[in-house]
Amino acid sequence: MYYILHQHYESVLRLVKIVNPEKLNDFYSIFSNKEFLKLRPQDRLDFIRKTLPVPDSKHFTLDNFKKVAQQTVEEMKKYDITHIDLRLSLHLDRWKSVNNLAHAKEIYDDALIGYDGKSISYIAAIDLTKSEQEIEKSLVALFDKKNIDSISGIDITLNEDDFDKFEKYYKTLLKIRSKFKKKIIIHLGEFTSDLINLKILKKLKPDRVAHGIALLESAEAIEFIKKNGICLDMCPISNEILGVVNWGLINPIKKALSLGISVTINTDDPITFNTNIKKEIEIANLNQEELNVVIENGIKFAGKIF
Ligand SMILES: [Zn+2]
Repeated sequence: MYYILHQHYESVLRLVKIVNPEKLNDFYSIFSNKEFLKLRPQDRLDFIRKTLPVPDSKHFTLDNFKKVAQQTVEEMKKYDITHIDLRLSLHLDRWKSVNNLAHAKEIYDDALIGYDGKSISYIAAIDLTKSEQEIEKSLVALFDKKNIDSISGIDITLNEDDFDKFEKYYKTLLKIRSKFKKKIIIHLGEFTSDLINLKILKKLKPDRVAHGIALLESAEAIEFIKKNGICLDMCPISNEILGVVNWGLINPIKKALSLGISVTINTDDPITFNTNIKKEIEIANLNQEELNVVIENGIKFAGKIF
């Protein structure tokens, strides 16, 4: 019955879970490491990225990619998840035998056979932290018919100092909605600050914002989000581990709900953060009425199912 609108597909870590599961436990021990806990949120994420275990290249086979997809679908069954908006990369470089996003979608769709009523829609990752050359390569792939027909939207990530790149590319990205009727999602108000959040919101008018925690600190942003019916896809455990917000002290989901803002609960990178939807709901600490609203929002704001 749960709808997850923000989940990274994490094919590399999912492969670790298949071929070297013990390496994951070693990796999770960094979350209690004193040096790690001293870092700011963005630096914690960078630290995590540098520490993530990577399997030997020989394991990146088509067969194992199918197992990765199967693992996601089995989690859907285990945790009563009806739908996921799954964020996939346009470049599956390590997986030489997976040709493109459309091919990856085919494999996930095959994994869903036999799981009646469950669905996944695919969100293409657009990473503005990359070089202009790499971003342009992603844009070419994005507008390739095979890829664009396979997705229900895009999800943009950027850091504070990528605003110039945002200015350069956002009009091209807006075509995804005007011309192709897809959703626009952006990671905002997790690491980014008021200096750029509102400017980006106004230019992009996203359908949904991943995280959006810091947006709740700005009256103008709150007003804009309400007026434009933007949904905030929150991920409590990711926030806790990265030190973005202490959910025991501040509860951004309750705050958003009390302001009349649409909000959903999500797992972000479930393998990286060793989480699942049950743990997320526990931390969110909602009453039944609030939880029902969150579930309804998931149904309402989910990507179109293909
Ligand atoms: Zn995310």
